[in-house]
Amino acid sequence: MNTNTILEDLRKKAPQEVEFHQAVEEVLESIEQVYNENPKFEAHKIVERVIMPDRIIMFRIPWMGDDDVINVNQGYRIEFNSAIGPYKGGLRFHPDVSLGTFKFLGFEQIFKNALTGLPMGGGKGGSDFDPKGKSDNEVMRFCQSFMTELYRHIGPETDVPAGDIGVGAREIGYMYGQYKRIVNRFEGVLTGKGLSWGGSWIRKEATGYGTVYITQHWLKLHGTDFTGKKVAISGSGNVAIYAAEKVMELGGTVVTMSDSNGSIIDEEGIDLDLVKRIKEVERGRIKEYVETRYNAKYSSNRNDVWTAKCDVALPCATQNELNLEDAKLLVANGCKVIAEGANMPVTPDAVHYLLEQKTGMIPGKAANAGGVAVSGLEMTQNSMKLQWTPNEVDAKLMQIMENIHEACVKYGKREDGYVDYVKGANVAGFLKVANCMIDHGLI
Ligand code: NDP
Repeated sequence: MNTNTILEDLRKKAPQEVEFHQAVEEVLESIEQVYNENPKFEAHKIVERVIMPDRIIMFRIPWMGDDDVINVNQGYRIEFNSAIGPYKGGLRFHPDVSLGTFKFLGFEQIFKNALTGLPMGGGKGGSDFDPKGKSDNEVMRFCQSFMTELYRHIGPETDVPAGDIGVGAREIGYMYGQYKRIVNRFEGVLTGKGLSWGGSWIRKEATGYGTVYITQHWLKLHGTDFTGKKVAISGSGNVAIYAAEKVMELGGTVVTMSDSNGSIIDEEGIDLDLVKRIKEVERGRIKEYVETRYNAKYSSNRNDVWTAKCDVALPCATQNELNLEDAKLLVANGCKVIAEGANMPVTPDAVHYLLEQKTGMIPGKAANAGGVAVSGLEMTQNSMKLQWTPNEVDAKLMQIMENIHEACVKYGKREDGYVDYVKGANVAGFLKVANCMIDHGLI
């Protein structure tokens, strides 16, 4: 495999898709050895095929604001790879997204979904719509307009989107309602649905819980557990909140959280009920936390979460939010393991540094796979037209995270005993997808 030529070609064709190139480079670096040892991959041009989406759908989303002014946003759905199942991956609503963002997220999703052991291909989509500051009615009109185009491209056996940044229970509800109204069928076309209309227990908690479960396995491998550990978490959205909840349940203390405007450090331990009230109920800002907890500190620098002394760091906000400087500070302050709750939150130079230092570094495609895993379980429950109990779903989630951990160790263990989880996750995911692509012939 000529990694440099492939990357140069990608950069030449679309120089602005920086995050996508970053994700491809990481995977190619990890799989180079196994790729070159198996000439069938080169003969079937697997890399050239797997980095190109099956199709990209882009569309216009017109919607009416409360002020009777027409707004127009861009919609995207990337159906990246369906070698092992229907396309599956979240929808993100955020003003900063571009085609490159969705290509990076869709590409990562292929290997993450393969790691879960469930039959799901990779996809991702969303819009540059910003739900912040919009009324419920505006969000509903936007979601309905979005689904009025998207519905023709998706289906329970074709492509099953879910939530991501800016897309929670409210947005999934409005999109599901519009889909059902158009096709006149009640079917499992989205995951993250409400519990009384086809949703799964533990889906809301799954990504955060899964991140903590896999970290628990890392700690176990190193002879310890979460009891008494200090944990730095970034973000205060879906993933961050439920990662924090599970850490606390397991006896750890969460000392930081953040949002896109700033961060809080609470050495006494984050009051999660307060964070939930501010972020989930009032849709407020994390800054408001210090109005109730006087001993906590607020900083308008989001990266200050990484200045706190901690044993474990869980970046759960967004891509490239933990840089080399942050990584150095974390290691100097005694942090032993970093698990990516978000997608690609640790910058490539920081990842290299952590691997050099032999610090634990569990990449997003392994650490945050719990979300899509329970989405896969939601699809199974929808097909069977039944609902498992919370304990049943949680037990399956735990088992899946344990299997992912094992796969990372199997493919990532170095001769000196250090486990490179980045390599392990990429190789395990790639082998599964690549072999399926070969089975399906040249398509
Ligand atoms: P949410 O929208 O619920 O929360 C996102 C959080 O990140 C918010 O606290 C948000 O702050 C913060 N944030 C957004 N942009 C930035 C930024 N530029 N700098 C710092 N903080 C920022 O999203 P999720 O919790 O669902 O997703 C978080 C990450 O986890 C994403 O990378 C997503 O792709 C990944 N993920 C999510 C899964 C899921 O099941 N939800 C599954 C797998 C991965 P603010 O409130 O200011 O917007």
